[in-house]
Amino acid sequence: MIMKNIKFNEINWPTTLYLILTPIGAIVTIYFFALYDLFQWQTILLAIFMWLASGMAITVGYHRYFSHRSYKVKKWMEYLYVIFGTSAMEMSVIEWTYDHRNHHRFTDTEKDPYSIKEGFWYAHILWMFTKRGTTKGKTEIDFNKVSDLTKDKFLMFQHKYYIPFAVFMTFIFPGLIAMLWGDFWGGVLIAGLVRSVIVHHGTFAINSVCHSIGKRPYSLDESARDSWISALLTYGEGYHNFHHKFPGDYRNAILPWQYDPSKWFIWTLSKLGIAWDLHKTPEERILQARIEVLEKQALQNPNLLQDKKILQSKERFQNVLNKIVELKEQYNKTKSISIQMIEKAKKDLIEAYKEYSNFLKRLSRINNIRFQN
Ligand SMILES: [Zn+2]
Ligand SMILES: [Zn+2]
Repeated sequence: MIMKNIKFNEINWPTTLYLILTPIGAIVTIYFFALYDLFQWQTILLAIFMWLASGMAITVGYHRYFSHRSYKVKKWMEYLYVIFGTSAMEMSVIEWTYDHRNHHRFTDTEKDPYSIKEGFWYAHILWMFTKRGTTKGKTEIDFNKVSDLTKDKFLMFQHKYYIPFAVFMTFIFPGLIAMLWGDFWGGVLIAGLVRSVIVHHGTFAINSVCHSIGKRPYSLDESARDSWISALLTYGEGYHNFHHKFPGDYRNAILPWQYDPSKWFIWTLSKLGIAWDLHKTPEERILQARIEVLEKQALQNPNLLQDKKILQSKERFQNVLNKIVELKEQYNKTKSISIQMIEKAKKDLIEAYKEYSNFLKRLSRINNIRFQN
């Protein structure tokens, strides 16, 4: 365990003290503001705006845009992601992306910078307490791995001057705005300090809570989980099992009733012409992943899988799936078939999926392993 091996001389003191003292400072601030009745409604509104702007700049910008390139966006919007993302105090886009790409590449291994295998609190916050290069996961930044970002002058500027830039954007900027109604310190402390601590623990929860609670409908291979509770805490990033299976998708939640404001924001940008090329995983791949998980669960009792009806259902699903892949290839190459044919095959696939997945779910229930994921 890495935690047990953290040595005194490996501790990154400035970051550690910052991460310990800011939540204490936030609690003390709220206490005194309540005690002396110092809250101003304009400052509260500013804090809510800053909470949304900085938190979503992380999920929509740092995460889905810079780390995964799941859509394209106008340059000025990219700058807004950097500016408001800076006020989340989560380091530069370059550093954040470097760690995050490693998290996906090496999930749950020693090379995962915030591996849940080291414990809930390690994945949440303790991983940041050590200096770079002291653990296998938290290596020195290899700029070649983020070469798409280092080409950008503004991103390099943010990386180089991160601390003064972040102090300004996190504390001074909301303070200056709140001066408009004579509440500089309210701006600094409520819309700055308290808000940034809330944003911190919201995004930190993606690495801890989203790898601990919920179900694994799309992949049993890693610890990432889907849960609406963590989605509420994380601007929609709580559908993390889907995200780890399909990291290039601009969505984390794919069902209409699931809470994913980051997806809604990107979708709105696309309708306004600000974002485009939103990457969506083809539905047949999602259904296939879901079936693979259900099959693994049902396979606990392989005899039952030999049932003729179930085998026929499996074959039907597989056939329609192959047909769609074929039709799509044909469509892309020669355009000799109509899009309606693909749509028709998709409908058949959903029918076949429903039938086969129901069989598998029933088997899992018989085997009593339904809730094991
Ligand atoms: Zn993760
Ligand atoms: Zn990710």
